This record gives sequence, C-alpha cells and structure tokens, in this order.
Amino acid sequence: MSTLVAVLLRRGDRYRLHPTPSQEARLAAWGGALRFLWNLAHGQREAMGRRCRVDRHPITAFDQIHELTELRADLPWLADVPRDVCAQLLVQLDLAWQRFFEGAGGRPRFKRKGRDRAPCVAPQAFRVEGEGRRGSVVFPKLGRVRAIVHRPLRGRAKQCALVLDAGDWFAAVSQEIEIADPVPSTKPTVAIDRGVVTLLADSNDVLVPNPRHGAKVQLRLARAQRSVARKKKGSQNQKKARAKVARIQRRARRQRAHTLHTLSRHYAQNHSVVIIESLAVKNMTRSASGSVEEPGTNVSQKRCLNRSILDVGWSMFEVMLRYKVVPEGGRVLGVWPAYSSQTCRVCGAVDTASRITQSLFRCTRCGHEEHADTNASKVLLARGLSVLAVEPTETGCGGNAARGRPTKQQRCVARRPHRSNAEATAPAKAPVFGPG
Ligand SMILES: [Zn+2]
Repeated sequence: MSTLVAVLLRRGDRYRLHPTPSQEARLAAWGGALRFLWNLAHGQREAMGRRCRVDRHPITAFDQIHELTELRADLPWLADVPRDVCAQLLVQLDLAWQRFFEGAGGRPRFKRKGRDRAPCVAPQAFRVEGEGRRGSVVFPKLGRVRAIVHRPLRGRAKQCALVLDAGDWFAAVSQEIEIADPVPSTKPTVAIDRGVVTLLADSNDVLVPNPRHGAKVQLRLARAQRSVARKKKGSQNQKKARAKVARIQRRARRQRAHTLHTLSRHYAQNHSVVIIESLAVKNMTRSASGSVEEPGTNVSQKRCLNRSILDVGWSMFEVMLRYKVVPEGGRVLGVWPAYSSQTCRVCGAVDTASRITQSLFRCTRCGHEEHADTNASKVLLARGLSVLAVEPTETGCGGNAARGRPTKQQRCVARRPHRSNAEATAPAKAPVFGPG
C-alpha cells in the first residue's frame, strides 16, 4: 500500500510517576472531587434523558461545561482541580454516552468510592521533560512530578491522563505521530492463526504456546482474595490485602502485554503483510484500508469496540500489530475466518472429521497431516493472498477486498499455492469449498 499522504498515528506511553507526599494527597483530593463531578453530571444526564423524550433536547458536554464556572465558584475543593481537567471529564462522560448509544460500550454508571476512579485527564498545558530517571511530568496546578521517562515523546503530545494502578501513579501520555510516506515494505507475507492452547501459529510453521500468565498466578491470586475476605470490612488490613490482589493482577496483565508486544514487534519488523482472521466482522477490517483517508481518529473508538467483542488478549495483539506495522510500511489484512480450522490447506476439502484432536489435522480426503493450527494459518495465508491478488488498484476495481473478505468465487483458493502437492485426487464426496 503505497501512500503519498503522511500517516498520523495515535500512540500512548505510560510513564511511572513518583509524586511527593503532598502531591499524592492533592491527587487523592482531586480524585474525590472528580468523582463528585462525574456523578453530578451523570445524574443530570440521567434526569435530562427522561425529560428529553418530551422536549427533544439532549444535554451536551458543552452545556455542562458552561455550568462549570458557577459550580467551581461555589465549591472551592472542586476549584482546586484544573478547569481543563474538569471540562475534559465532562467530555469523557459525553464520549461514554456516545459509545453507549452506538452500541460500542456499556451504559455509563455512577462512580463509587473505592471501586471506580473518575478520569483525570489534562488536554493541554502539561509537559514531559528530561530523560530516564531524571525525567518529570509537569501537570497543571500539580507542578513538576518526578517521572521515569523511559522513552522520549516521539510526536505531538495530545493529552495526559494520571492513572492509579495498584497503588502506583502513572502518566499516560497520548501523542500524535506523523509518519511521512512510509516506504512500502517488500518483506514476506505471513498468516497468523490465533488460538487458546497455542497462542499463535503462523504459516512459517512457528508455534507459540500460550504462556497462560493468568493461570500461573491463579493460586496466589485465590489465596490473596481469600485473605481479603477474611479481613474486617473497611479496615486498614483489608486495604492492604486488596492492594496485594491488585499487584498480582497487575503482574499477570503486564506479563501478558509483554508477550504480545514481543510477538507483534517480531511480526511487524519481519513481514510486510500480516494476515489474521478478522474476528469482529465489520469495523476491525476497516482499519487496514482506512488509515490513509481517516488517519488516527477511528483507532481509539475502534479499540473500544474491539475490546467489547473480543477477548482482551486477542484484541490487544491485533491493536499492537496494527500500529506497529504501519511505520514499517506494512499492513494487517483481516480475512474471512470461517472453517479455517476444518479446511485442508492441500486439497481444500472442508470436513469437521479432519480435525482428529485439538492439535492434529488429518484430511479425510487426501490424507494430509499437519498440526491443526499450522494448517489453519496456511489456509488463512491462501485466503489472504487471494484477497491481495484481486485487490483494487489505484484505478479501483476488484472485489470487496477493502473488507478483507474474498468474494464468493475466490474463497476456494486454499489449495492454489500448493497445487503441486494436490496430486492426490480422491472422489469429491466431502464438501469442497469452491470448484475443486
Ligand atoms: Zn486434503
């Protein structure tokens, strides 16, 4: 995909913060104030929503931001929070409602103390300074907070969110990176089949077993959770036990992310086109082609949508892959996923019985034997190659390849790249995909 237009990427980095005790106390106070503001604005929306059916005037973020000045004049503890941060919270609430109305997210709810945190996001007036352990994040009103800037900013910083994760503060800085005309990659194409027992199987016969980070800590986690249950409600000891649970969960989450980062980086660097099965049918596949015309803007919304549809790990891998592939001049192609695990990659026969066990595939028609996931990834590779072959060119003709899905006639090409192997011609009694 050659592009003459620069590509805008939205990327985020999370810097560990080391606030001073007074900064930490202020952040805690802000947390309460922002939760109050969220609940107030949310309650207003809920009440207006009921009235809205009558007078047809839905409330907007702007309406609520206008009321901020008066509210902050009355409540000094709310006025201590930067105004931009308050306004941004109202925007976030609006976005949450929009996502809900579009069917992409759950209904926004009231934030409860000890359970939820209201977003603390500065849309501007923040800075990231220094490098490494000498770095700092300057946040409005909070001033300079010591931070570990493990990686310098690479683009225009768009917003900075302060998040508390298992007792530690982080600054999540999202930035817009402009990549001027990424050179189209000429590296080989690969297809990846995602699974549960085998995390990934690619068309180069590589199998990556599922490290099961979650399962590994399950025992420790269960013990820590039982310990929380034994503690007196609301006590300091319960708080401590809760913190331990959070740390164990964070550890597993980070390990999972690390594995996926390593793998997605590998595929992004060594391959031009990465073919994966498109699991959420519509909007996910659009990202592959939409990055030029609608750069950046859809990515975060899409990410939320994917999250609701997919299991976290899989969608995380895909998101990582998509943003890592673009600067390398490659692309991710989602292809039609159905029956890929039951299709023989040699003769194209589709039969449930071909899948002998979880890992073994033996074709009932031609007897081809292979690891089931490897076979599936090669079926995906063939499907992806057929999509690429009929891809609309600059002049714009071809199938509906933009959706990453071959048209009906092209679905049978599972055997095309391997025609030489297909000399075994058993009677075609098994259901065959296409003219075969
Ligand atoms: Zn076969």
